[in-house]
Amino acid sequence: MAVIQDQYGRTFRTLRVSLLNHCNLGCVYCVAGEDIVKAANAGGKKDLLSVPALLEIIGRLHGQLELGTIRLTGGEPLLYPGLTALIRGIHDLGIPAIKLTTNGFLLERLAIPMKEAGMASVNVSLDAVDEDVFYKMSRRHSAERVIRGIDAALEAGLDVKINSVIMRGINDGQILPLLDFAFSRRCSIRYLEVMAMGHLHDQAEKYLFSQKDILSVIAARHSFSSLGRAGAATASYWRTDEGHQFGVIANETEPFCRDCDRLRLDSSGHIYGCLSSNHPIQLDNMEDETKWVEKLQQALLQKQALRFTGSDLSMLYIGG
Ligand code: SAM
Repeated sequence: MAVIQDQYGRTFRTLRVSLLNHCNLGCVYCVAGEDIVKAANAGGKKDLLSVPALLEIIGRLHGQLELGTIRLTGGEPLLYPGLTALIRGIHDLGIPAIKLTTNGFLLERLAIPMKEAGMASVNVSLDAVDEDVFYKMSRRHSAERVIRGIDAALEAGLDVKINSVIMRGINDGQILPLLDFAFSRRCSIRYLEVMAMGHLHDQAEKYLFSQKDILSVIAARHSFSSLGRAGAATASYWRTDEGHQFGVIANETEPFCRDCDRLRLDSSGHIYGCLSSNHPIQLDNMEDETKWVEKLQQALLQKQALRFTGSDLSMLYIGG
């Protein structure tokens, strides 16, 4: 097996698979207002990679990279028709941790089948508990439906983390209500700084509510101490004096590129080594081991040395 490693000792251990690039929400950080219909239909639902095709690619990547974690994402991964069969297949490949990121809209129905198929944990995106603010962020109703999904996932025995992107002037008033909600369910919550991606490429700064800002809002209500950031993890964590935990993913103000171990596969079979890159690398010539290694090395070269530099490709297409 060829060694795939860059000058900083980075390699790929985590694979994020974007199963499709359409979504049933139209979140303001993913799609511009005029693109909502496009987001709902993007990619053509018929052209998705089949379960066997995905398993072949994932199996090869696992053989080459000894993956520790796979995360299914999108678009909205719960819209992928063969989801439970795919989870079962990945489980059979022996990848230790199978995780998924979802907006939670279909979670109430799918939590148990996913758990039974071998899913370990889900990250649920929830940017507001207030219905009006939820609508402003996602352009759909309702937060209540996502909360029912979270409760169903907890009930099914899935490990649940809540992810909340905080945007200045839109949902920064939801930091404490979201914290209360997460604490009430004993879930971990992570706040995300907004990233300069897609239509926000040149204007993310205007919406940036930084890690420092987030911590000062929480400090008005809670005392907490730092737990730091583990290994290649994206979030730094804190523990409140009452024993609850929360995290911040500070892509913009505390970048963590130096130990990033993520490889991305999009819904058309391209790989990307970095969110900052909008240059897809097509995985073809499946039989040619040398070409395969070359492409992984090419993807590794896309990683930034220090920080995320922005991209005009929305996460809708490259997977969150
Ligand atoms: N539909 C699923 C969901 O909502 O979780 C999975 C895909 S979505 C692209 C995954 C997550 O990416 C979003 O919920 C959000 O946390 C994150 N995301 C997308 N665009 C972002 C941006 N510009 N800045 C920060 N986070 C972003």
